[in-house]
Amino acid sequence: MNQATSTPALMLHDGVEIPQLGLGVFQVPPEKTQETVERALEAGYRHIDTAAAYRNERGVGAAVAASGIPREQIFVTTKLWNTSQGYEPALGAFEKSVARLGLDYVDLYLIHWPVPSEGRTLDSWRALERIQLDGGARTIGVSNFRVEDLEMLEREAEVLPTVNQIELHPHLQQAELREWHAEHGVATEAWSPLAQGELLYNATIAAVASRHDRSAAQVILRWHLQLGNVVIPKSATPSRIRENFALFDFELTEDDMTEIAALDVGKRIGPDPADFA
Ligand code: NDP
Repeated sequence: MNQATSTPALMLHDGVEIPQLGLGVFQVPPEKTQETVERALEAGYRHIDTAAAYRNERGVGAAVAASGIPREQIFVTTKLWNTSQGYEPALGAFEKSVARLGLDYVDLYLIHWPVPSEGRTLDSWRALERIQLDGGARTIGVSNFRVEDLEMLEREAEVLPTVNQIELHPHLQQAELREWHAEHGVATEAWSPLAQGELLYNATIAAVASRHDRSAAQVILRWHLQLGNVVIPKSATPSRIRENFALFDFELTEDDMTEIAALDVGKRIGPDPADFA
């Protein structure tokens, strides 16, 4: 367990621990971000997921500073945007991110998308390896990488990513990637874990929720935790921020897990990494 809160932590392959539950801040408006992250830190979250592309890194950093919580107890992730791929551009983009965050280091730095059409993925990854060696990021990973992108890194890179953050929810369960991750010691981190709300009215989820006297969101997030995923639900609503953190006092049964597994229809909410640039 993480010392600071009751959130379980997963051990990454380089020895860094990541809290299994965090707050995502995609689409939280910049002017609302500090307040939103402060509410989450008060509720017990110790893991925040932002990105240069979200334009709200300043708000995340301001909330961390205002919280009075020791820096080493908060896990902060940010990401390299597509237009800054390449070795030198990635180093420059990282410096700008840490400056906006007002931090000396980030806990996790990710390549946001592989952008295969540009052919700069490996150069970008080499920059992340440099950043980790220089102490700028405690651990480094990728996002939206397909098996073929991961295999390219396995052939060419010094170290494998510790994390692959991918779209994952009951409608898109990503069996092939999760299996690759498990075989190679890469942690699976789920983005849009609630399918941006689309699954909250699903009849199967509602039935499981009613059996446990829990909300649909709590059931879906608990399913992720029991699969071993790192999960970063977004909410800008204080009551939901608290609700999404109250996951550690109930457990889904094997039958519940099997029913939810049957909801996989391979349906994306977001872009396809094969052609997103
Ligand atoms: P989520 O699946 O987390 O869904 C967020 C939506 O669900 C919001 O509309 C939110 O509303 C609503 N919601 C949250 N909790 C509840 C609840 N308990 N009851 C009812 N509604 C709820 O989608 P996101 O796309 O935001 O994904 C989460 C995070 O993943 C992002 O914030 C980001 O950090 C990351 N991400 C990464 C990507 C990548 O390419 N690496 C791509 C997309 C996301 P409200 O805020 O109004 O409460």
